[in-house]
Amino acid sequence: IKNSYQKYFAYYNNELLERSIEERRIIGEFEKAIDNNEFVMFLQPQVDCKGMAYGAEALVRWQHPERGLLSPAVFIDVLEKAGLIYKLDRYMWEKAAEKLGEWKREGHDRYHISVNISTKDFYLIDVYETFTGLVDKYNINPDKLKLEITETALMADFKKNMEIIRRLQNYGFKIEIDDFGSGYSSLNMLKDISADVLKIDMGFLRASENELKGRDILESIVSLAGKLGMEVITEGVEKESQVNMLKDMGCNMFQGYFFSKPVQIKEFEDRYLI
Ligand code: C2E
Ligand code: CA
Ligand code: CA
Ligand code: CA
Repeated sequence: IKNSYQKYFAYYNNELLERSIEERRIIGEFEKAIDNNEFVMFLQPQVDCKGMAYGAEALVRWQHPERGLLSPAVFIDVLEKAGLIYKLDRYMWEKAAEKLGEWKREGHDRYHISVNISTKDFYLIDVYETFTGLVDKYNINPDKLKLEITETALMADFKKNMEIIRRLQNYGFKIEIDDFGSGYSSLNMLKDISADVLKIDMGFLRASENELKGRDILESIVSLAGKLGMEVITEGVEKESQVNMLKDMGCNMFQGYFFSKPVQIKEFEDRYLI
């Protein structure tokens, strides 16, 4: 017993050690990577029921000089823990605003870009000032910048964050509740917030043991959202059968591999901006 116990701890310590080395590497390389423009904005189309894109979500990738293209799963949590995520988010918001300004000048102003906001951003920067500043700087319509916030992020400091959200909405920004239904307070939250869009991940269905029940809940959310004057977009849509089911429920906005993976800006523009 003693032997396996020791082995377990050796293994466990090794895991922890490797993880902390990895974390320190990410933190250590971060500032330079920002300065060198190693972070790249990918766009995943958001489409209507005909499969036509009407906008996109901005998703970050790290084009690392030695490690290749890194997924956000590798570095977002680390940067959040280190209190650095706001620098990356600010960078991404700026890239999105800059792109929207360019599209507007070129006459493509019907497309929006959705950006992600981390909980930590609310503590470390003035989110309102940052977004309104970008609107002025790039002369964009605020309703073309959609702000994705998870319910967990909102709940973290509900009163204060709600106040910021309301001011952003009054200014004209659109608010999307990301991963709706995956937190613990979804319904409770709905009575106090008027988001513009609820974003539901199809993983919600996959995670359900009883698929029929999950389907009923999904349908109820879509109808509830309608009553509350909110739009619903489903993400993680991978199959045509899902699209058909969602259409039957009255959901008309989709994002997922079935339509497209996140792609480079150039590819998005070539494919959709006509
Ligand atoms: P998210 O905001 O929920 O973004 C959706 C994720 O689902 C993306 O993963 C997207 O590539 C993936 N996805 C889209 N369609 C499908 C599908 O049909 N099937 C499956 N299985 N997955 C699909 P990605 O790009 O790896 O991003 C992961 C997470 O990293 C995001 O989840 C978001 O929480 C975070 N993230 C990405 N970019 C940023 C950013 O600029 N700032 C912050 N704070 N977080 C970001
Ligand atoms: Ca998102
Ligand atoms: Ca999501
Ligand atoms: Ca997520």
